[in-house]
Amino acid sequence: MASASMQGKVALVTGATSGIGSATAEALAERGAHVLVAGRDSARGKDVVSAIQKRGGKADFVGADLRDTQGVRQLAQDALGLGGGRVDVLVNNAGIYPFGPTEDMEESLFDAVHALNVKAPFYLVAELAPGMADRGGGAIVNVSTVAAVLGYSGMALYGSSKAALNLLTKAWAAEYGPRGVRVNAVQVGPTRTETTAQSEEDLRRLAAQAPAGRPASAAEIAAAIVYLADDATSSFVQGAILPVDGGRSAV
Ligand code: NAP
Repeated sequence: MASASMQGKVALVTGATSGIGSATAEALAERGAHVLVAGRDSARGKDVVSAIQKRGGKADFVGADLRDTQGVRQLAQDALGLGGGRVDVLVNNAGIYPFGPTEDMEESLFDAVHALNVKAPFYLVAELAPGMADRGGGAIVNVSTVAAVLGYSGMALYGSSKAALNLLTKAWAAEYGPRGVRVNAVQVGPTRTETTAQSEEDLRRLAAQAPAGRPASAAEIAAAIVYLADDATSSFVQGAILPVDGGRSAV
């Protein structure tokens, strides 16, 4: 195990059955946190949990479909149950990113994107941040995208959902920061995950626009999320939207 700076902390990671979320779950467990691995797919979730346990870490799977608010509220309650009444770190990572022309985006897809990318983080924070504040501390990390700040053709729907998440990051920093809860976001660039690897050509084309010129690995994004989640490394960082995009938003 790396450093145990998060020993005793309970961390809930949504969308932890795949990609950036599973890499984040593993990295938080490396720091000693008890990680709650959330997702719908229990088989993939249990694989993530056993990989963590094999390396001496602590993790549990918690199943949830976050497209409806009842599922979101239930996840918060289940997480508090598994965490012995506390969740110290919340990583709002679960998300979907369908790309395409605006006229092809059915209303049901619009609703699904905003339900998972905006409404689920909103109500998870509503459920969990007050408890963090009552205990005098906590950290929330939202997983956003460079498409929230740049106008990409074909990413209007997705970018709009993450732009809302960026604003929520700042509003929550103002709302909960004075009570000890740090709220930040990572603004992620093209990253190779189970989903994006299915369109390798698009991934490389997008990545080529940034100074780094290549896609990130999920572990590189997870390292930035852990930096923001851990008081040992980011105790004075609040309301920040940290570009982890290979320099894309700088050029
Ligand atoms: P991914 O591999 O597609 O994984 C998505 C995760 O979200 C899975 O664990 C999935 O779990 C979960 N999820 C999907 N629908 C859900 C639902 N209805 N209820 C609960 N969980 C659900 O994603 P990724 O590429 O790692 O991306 C993770 C985050 O990073 C997303 O928010 C994405 O927008 C952001 N991001 C990614 C990139 C990139 O290039 N990959 C770039 C910028 C930002 P189950 O299937 O088990 O439910």
